[in-house]
Amino acid sequence: MKKRILTGDRPTGKMHLGHYVGTLVNRVRLQDEYECFFIIADLHTLTTRPQKEYVEIIANSTREMVLDYLAVGIDPSKSVVYLQSAVHEVYELNLFLEMLVNVPRLQRMPSLKDMAKTAHLNEMPFGLLGYPVLQAADILLPRSHLVPVGKDNEAHVEITREIARRFNTYYGEVFPIPDVMIGDVPMLVGTDGAAKMSKSAGNTIFLSDDRKTVEKKVHGMYTDPNRVSADVPGKVEGNPVFIYHGAFNDNREEVKDLTQRYRAGKVGDVEVKQKLAAALNRVLDPIRDRRQSYEERKGFVDEFIYDGTMRMREEARETLTLVKKAMGITGTWNRIKRKAEDYRKRLGRG
Ligand code: ATP
Ligand code: MG
Repeated sequence: MKKRILTGDRPTGKMHLGHYVGTLVNRVRLQDEYECFFIIADLHTLTTRPQKEYVEIIANSTREMVLDYLAVGIDPSKSVVYLQSAVHEVYELNLFLEMLVNVPRLQRMPSLKDMAKTAHLNEMPFGLLGYPVLQAADILLPRSHLVPVGKDNEAHVEITREIARRFNTYYGEVFPIPDVMIGDVPMLVGTDGAAKMSKSAGNTIFLSDDRKTVEKKVHGMYTDPNRVSADVPGKVEGNPVFIYHGAFNDNREEVKDLTQRYRAGKVGDVEVKQKLAAALNRVLDPIRDRRQSYEERKGFVDEFIYDGTMRMREEARETLTLVKKAMGITGTWNRIKRKAEDYRKRLGRG
């Protein structure tokens, strides 16, 4: 039997180059070797934005996101994409797993503090503190073996491993201990040089940006701040433009040549950026084409998610049956049911 992958994203809209190199490339690469489950983690968006006005835009954001999945090459005949909130077993599993992790362990997660800050929350909501626990429930629900994510999510998978080990120790082997797989670029910097490309920071290049938009964004990118003119030797290390060349330019000779000339003060920023925009557009062109062809098939995305959710529901029911049986919770109910039935029989009501 094939091993399983679970990974996914919060439906916050279109996907960008950071998502691509951090996790999407791995998903596409592994979809033959693994049975893949991709979650649209809409419950996770509630951790920072529970208000109804945000809930109401999720369906659209979901469609945009899944179009990007299909555009990068996720094959609807191979992979399952499902809507988290429509699989009720995750709410149940989340509660069981909450008992297996301590509050200080969660409070030490730097990612949660960052999320609270970005969302302008002065205090930590209970649900946000539980973000990694809900993520553990997602990962364990299809009993997955591998989780391809960006570097910022590595610590969450580590918590999942701890929770799974604890569950298995308490109740018996139900869950595989899932491995993390980080993308070739663990964390892509933003166009502004910030550590992470992220929508909330407004430093993204979207997979669906058109050619002109990509050129414009690349033109505005940060480079070596100390380089005042083209004849000054420049620094390539930590320079976002060269980081992108390294990550996306398939013409390795060109990258080598630009790197040497940049270091020697023999090339202008304009040329380096023009060549980067061209390289990015070479990567994005087939993605744009595929996106458009799926966009034209109205309703296709929704049916794909619908089918995937139904499929996931089956898996989830199976897991929860195993979980409750292992925990003895099924036994509690069965004992009460049996006694109740006996009693009824004795009274001649059964
Ligand atoms: P955004 O703020 O732009 O919406 P995000 O951090 O909210 O991004 P998530 O939905 O939390 O994105 O995560 C989706 C996946 O993409 C995760 O596996 C995450 O690690 C990965 N990812 C997101 N941004 C980057 C990045 N800049 N570099 C590498 N991986 C990334
Ligand atoms: Mg997101």
